[in-house]
Amino acid sequence: MNKALYSAEKKYFECCSETVEGYSEALYFYLENYHTALKSIYDPLLFSTGDTARIQDWLIKNKPYMPEDFAAYFYVDEKKTGYFSNGNIVGLEGRNYVDKSNYIDSDFFVSNIMYSKLSSSPVFVIGIPYFDDNHSLKGILCAVFKIEVMQKITDAITLSEKKYVYLQDRTGRFLVHPDKSYLGEVFIPDDEHYKAISSEFISSQIQGKIETVNENDEVVNLIYNRVKLCEWILAIAFPKVELEQIYRQQNSTKVTIILISVLSLGIFVFLEMSLLNYFYKNQLVNAVYDPLTNLYSRQFFEKIADRHLKKNPRVKFMLIEADIRGFKFINQNYGEENADKMIFYLSTLLNKAVQSYKGLICRGYADHFYIMLEVHNVYKAMSMFKKKLEQLNDLIKAYEIPFFPKFGITFFRPEQKRNVSVKELIGQASFAKSTIKDNMILPYAIYNSRLLDKVNEEHYIEATMEKALENGEFFVMYQPKILLADDKIVGGEALVRWKTNDIGLLTPDKFIPLFEKNGFITKLDFYVYEQVFKFISRQLKENQPIVPISVNMSRNHNKPDKFMHDFMELFNKYNIPPEYIQVEIIERSVMDSKTLCEITDRLHEKGFSVAMDDFGSGESSLNMLTKVPVDVLKFDRYFLLSTMNEKGAVDEKSARFMSSLIELSRNLEKQTVFEGVETEEQRDFLKKIRCDQVQGYFYSKPLLENEFLEFIEKHSN
Ligand code: C2E
Ligand code: CA
Ligand code: CA
Repeated sequence: MNKALYSAEKKYFECCSETVEGYSEALYFYLENYHTALKSIYDPLLFSTGDTARIQDWLIKNKPYMPEDFAAYFYVDEKKTGYFSNGNIVGLEGRNYVDKSNYIDSDFFVSNIMYSKLSSSPVFVIGIPYFDDNHSLKGILCAVFKIEVMQKITDAITLSEKKYVYLQDRTGRFLVHPDKSYLGEVFIPDDEHYKAISSEFISSQIQGKIETVNENDEVVNLIYNRVKLCEWILAIAFPKVELEQIYRQQNSTKVTIILISVLSLGIFVFLEMSLLNYFYKNQLVNAVYDPLTNLYSRQFFEKIADRHLKKNPRVKFMLIEADIRGFKFINQNYGEENADKMIFYLSTLLNKAVQSYKGLICRGYADHFYIMLEVHNVYKAMSMFKKKLEQLNDLIKAYEIPFFPKFGITFFRPEQKRNVSVKELIGQASFAKSTIKDNMILPYAIYNSRLLDKVNEEHYIEATMEKALENGEFFVMYQPKILLADDKIVGGEALVRWKTNDIGLLTPDKFIPLFEKNGFITKLDFYVYEQVFKFISRQLKENQPIVPISVNMSRNHNKPDKFMHDFMELFNKYNIPPEYIQVEIIERSVMDSKTLCEITDRLHEKGFSVAMDDFGSGESSLNMLTKVPVDVLKFDRYFLLSTMNEKGAVDEKSARFMSSLIELSRNLEKQTVFEGVETEEQRDFLKKIRCDQVQGYFYSKPLLENEFLEFIEKHSN
């Protein structure tokens, strides 16, 4: 193949993959928006009372403010009883979304497709857990959605024609399909191509995967991605003609693809900001008052708002950006004068509302307004906002030209971050507002720190991690390891969690990569080791049951001498036989296999066992198998996932490969452990090929100390 053509093709696929990635990000974003809407009635104070009658009243009262896309919403208490916004009280025992294990690792959960008696069409549920101070789950606030909402969303995110979008939940049921008759179904027709699609859909290693199949007599390239958090599977089919055209044109630069991504939203905010700067630089705006509305100018607003923020370091603020949907269109169709009138009208309404709360308001350029208010409680502020919004909408209805304002909202919580500027808050509110699509019913969006605030979050984490360690905000959970021969517990893995005061429970993926970057992980590792040692030694001292525990050793410990010294110093403080401790090591880029061998040997000398973690995820794994003298091979979760077909059964070829790999491990006298065993089929298969142990949600998610002890009680000899 001609080199230029080859690179054109490569470029084309890169663009397509980016589109799919952006699309998946956009879907996640919509789900996040639902989550945020639900969160606006999340009232921890009220939930902490456990008074379900009052909680249900609260839900019913808030009904008018909830988006129409919510088919229903409800609160589930500890007894698994659901208190619904329509007044119903229903027992929900056995439903997947009330299972507490779904909430251990995440502060919101998106279910797979379900069939509900209450609704004619299949639904899915978004749940937000409520934990008490002891990290124990007391309730769940849930919203139900008909799967049609996903179709509506994908219809709204337009791709150029001839691109088909598929969305499946983790079990393979379609939420979106070009042929509507497949919605809610697991679709496996006889066609071999479809089988290929479906199995790829369900197996896990599909990120960015490209595949060529026949779709309605047209050859397409299918590109896959996973939607964050819910792990739904997205595929977009790009017609092959597109690629052929490139060949004809022989020009890679002419590839045009609409990129829908959060990135483009970022650019939008950036553009808006630069436009504004342009106005300022050219002194097109008045310094203090806006001549049209007599409100403050934005420049002046920023000045006094900043002063306000500095003067009140402990106060929470709400910043709102408002504008009018399709204002450009109004300007063109009704003329500038009418548009100005409309702005003035809106300004009087907004100003009146703001003045009743002693807030600040200004107009930026065109139809853009900014509002800053002091608030005490985010949830109360939101319910106040919604009330005002209703009044505002009533007044607007009386206006001669129909128009609809929309709002981006952000909250500044001083405990989260100090020193924020009004500009930054405006950026956040703008960003939130830019996520409101014209077809969305909810006219406001709340800035979600998880999306854009990542950088701030990192700052926050870095600024608070040391204190958090001192304050005992990190704690350890234990996930059981099961011996397949008799289904009994033979060990556990210690997994760290961080319960922050401000942003809730964090799972390791949120902070470990950062801690690896800044080096804090070595400290945290030792903290975890000490917690584990304490736990084991207490059990032994009291003659209570306990099993050997595996601890993780991060890739940052790259000096065997120092590590062993510190590890033994800590270990010797507790009177524990070393057989109770296993160390999980990982292949690492910074460390050669020689160093890895050295650490393993040194740990062996002291009587600890050593496991190779995430085996099968790196390229050199097979190489390591013979080189590093570990006792245990822990197979990565993805290893198992990648061998499953559409029905969750193991693919024959993979089965043979795994079977021989286990055989090989056995010959090398290494124990085998599989991680991420979630289904009975997987367990049975692993048992059949004589894998020794498994660890996974099928048996148990990571547990709190006391839960883990209960598990030992129930599952040991
Ligand atoms: P890992 O060592 O591979 O730990 C296993 C991870 O897989 C855990 O995630 C566990 O909750 C998850 N898992 C177990 N069974 C299943 C299953 O059936 N399905 C699914 N979907 N997941 C399952 P977790 O706790 O979020 O930890 C993520 C990673 O963070 C760990 O991966 C480990 O690399 C790191 N980590 C956790 N705790 C520590 C620690 O104390 N020190 C260090 N250095 N790293 C840690
Ligand atoms: Ca591990
Ligand atoms: Ca692992």
